Amino acid sequence: MVPPFPRTAARMLSREIAGKRNFSTSKSRNADFTHAVIGAGAVGLAIARQLASRTGTSTILIERHGSVGTETSSRNSEVIHAGLYYGPDSLKTKLCLRGKHLLYDLCEAQNIPHSRTKKWIIAQDAQQMGELEALHAFAQRIDVPTHFLARKEIQTQEPDVRAEAGVLESPTTGIIDSHAFMAYLEGSFDERGGDEMLHTVVTKVEALGQHGDGEEGYAITTQSRDGKGGEDVITAEALINSAGLAAMDISNMVLPPDRHRKPYYAKGTYFSYAASHPKPNTLLYPAPKPGSGGLGTHLTLDMAGRVRFGPDVEWVDDPTDLTPNPARLAAAIQVIKDYLPSIDAQAIGLDYCGIRPKLGKTSGTYGKDGEGFADFYIKEEEGFKGFVNLLGIESPGLTSALAIAEYVEDILYGNGSSA
Ligand SMILES: Cc1cc2nc3c(=O)[nH]c(=O)nc-3n(C[C@H](O)[C@H](O)[C@H](O)COP(=O)(O)OP(=O)(O)OC[C@H]3O[C@@H](n4cnc5c(N)ncnc54)[C@H](O)[C@@H]3O)c2cc1C
Repeated sequence: MVPPFPRTAARMLSREIAGKRNFSTSKSRNADFTHAVIGAGAVGLAIARQLASRTGTSTILIERHGSVGTETSSRNSEVIHAGLYYGPDSLKTKLCLRGKHLLYDLCEAQNIPHSRTKKWIIAQDAQQMGELEALHAFAQRIDVPTHFLARKEIQTQEPDVRAEAGVLESPTTGIIDSHAFMAYLEGSFDERGGDEMLHTVVTKVEALGQHGDGEEGYAITTQSRDGKGGEDVITAEALINSAGLAAMDISNMVLPPDRHRKPYYAKGTYFSYAASHPKPNTLLYPAPKPGSGGLGTHLTLDMAGRVRFGPDVEWVDDPTDLTPNPARLAAAIQVIKDYLPSIDAQAIGLDYCGIRPKLGKTSGTYGKDGEGFADFYIKEEEGFKGFVNLLGIESPGLTSALAIAEYVEDILYGNGSSA
């Protein structure tokens, strides 16, 4: 049987080999690699694949787990977002719109499982309708199709949905099998000659050239995840920090203390649904609540057609706190009942959690006036040539991954880059 998308076995370098290998293709005079990417989630994979296609360069992707995409990239809603929530002139808007097009094109070209499910944003009162009208006006400004549905259309298409004030439909919202997407990226990175170091934790980063000795680039100290074996040091001309929940820690390893930042984490719990009714075919979102960290406890579908609810928002101190919190169930049921009154509350159970890496106790969405909104932080840090820092890569990071990869390449090599 022909596999649905090309995938070659990814190479896993032994840490010793990677550390000592000489790369004749590297344009650097001394560095082992041209590019080192820390973190093999969807975003790190997309960046590494993008950079690996540049001729005369070498790229290493470093990941602490034994396989790619086991953290936030596999603990999300797998929604291909339309780009409605992130306000004017933000990186989130720009990269989500571009990323969505690139992602649909890639999925179609490579048979990566996905579906253009559409999405409804639901209002129960005039205040919520105001939120929908603001979203619709913004969508028109950025050329993203949305339209309000007539009451009859709502009743015919999704008879179980309660929408007292109205529904705004987003026809370009869809879902994707995020694991298949990442497996494709990994295989493609490998085919482009990239190297992966799995089971490898970055424990220290030193910016070379800070002592006026003419050296450039970064010395990256790694250790095997099980702690066995010693440390290895590899060097790279450019360092891309795509470490997700640990990105702030990596950033603080590189930048001086006065530029250190504190990480924040917003946990989202998902809820499963064991009953067969109601079973909508469209993704259902409550109207956005200004100032909240997420999009409200919504209904999404996975590629197998399973209904799941969530995620909610709970601020936590520990980025490994992934146990669903039973105390969240009652509040979630209340929100869900608002737009799906015939839901069988007994059939709703705790499922899994994902954690959003946050820049502060900020909102992931823009709302009406942008108050409290935080954008993606993607920058080559001043005074640290070739160090591209990606912080706060929360939703819509999965949708934006391919566009973020282009953006990072442009930072390093485009007009105005420091290369
Ligand atoms: C609850 C939730 C729902 C979401 N829903 C959606 C959605 O529907 N649509 C959408 O577009 N986006 C969504 N997102 C956002 C999306 O999941 C993320 O933006 C995206 O997965 C981030 O990918 P990443 O590669 O930056 O991070 P990650 O997937 O977290 O990858 C970072 C990697 O870095 C590795 N790492 C960290 N530190 C080190 C180290 N020291 N050494 C070596 N490796 C290290 C980690 O092991 C990890 O594999 C959601 C996020 C959450 C939390």
